[in-house]
Amino acid sequence: MKVAVLLGAPGAGKGTAAEGVCAATKYLHVATGDMLRDAVKKGTRFGVEAEAWMKRGELVPDSTIVAIVEERLNAGSGSDSYLFDGFPRTRQQAELLEASLGKLGAKVQHVFFLDAPRELLLSRLTGRRICRGCGRNYHVVNIPPKKSGVCDGCGGELYQRADDQEATIARRLDVYNAQTEALIAWYEKRGVLTRVNSARHRDEITGEIVRVLSRS
Ligand code: AMP
Repeated sequence: MKVAVLLGAPGAGKGTAAEGVCAATKYLHVATGDMLRDAVKKGTRFGVEAEAWMKRGELVPDSTIVAIVEERLNAGSGSDSYLFDGFPRTRQQAELLEASLGKLGAKVQHVFFLDAPRELLLSRLTGRRICRGCGRNYHVVNIPPKKSGVCDGCGGELYQRADDQEATIARRLDVYNAQTEALIAWYEKRGVLTRVNSARHRDEITGEIVRVLSRS
């Protein structure tokens, strides 16, 4: 099993990079935020547990996250290569992931830290739009759909995430600074970290990640 992780603040472009990388490789995109939003929409037990935390821009409890990740890893998706986006977010979660992968005889081989200045994160988050049908990411200025409000791929309606409003964005960036930054140092020490300048066009970011993944 191959496992890679995308790290970076909300708005760093993890989702967009993951779409590009997974289209070009056999990696399967595992986005805990998408999985949780889906669980909230469907009203599952995990969704009910997660909703209040998500609305506030706080991290949902580790027990919920680990349960949904293990469920996905055990689901027999047909792929043995996983690209995590939005997980792990804390040092504790990184240790839990290591334990879950250890049970499967696997480990994290690559971690990509997508680095971008705060002003860029803010403009990406406030302009972000997502397709209700297929989940594809857009941006009103940087990645506009051909027809306003409509997905190019599936024709679904584009919407703005409830937590992409200014007050919640500030909270999410603070949570990131307080918790996720420690992970960068942790993975750097383990020799698996690649820093990626994410203040560039998405094709350049995707290309750089694909090149590193295809070397191993
Ligand atoms: P994202 O789509 O990655 O920005 O995640 C949206 C929200 O889902 C976050 O603000 C958290 O409330 C929750 N979430 C997603 N991934 C995690 C995680 N690994 N740990 C805790 N909460 C998470």
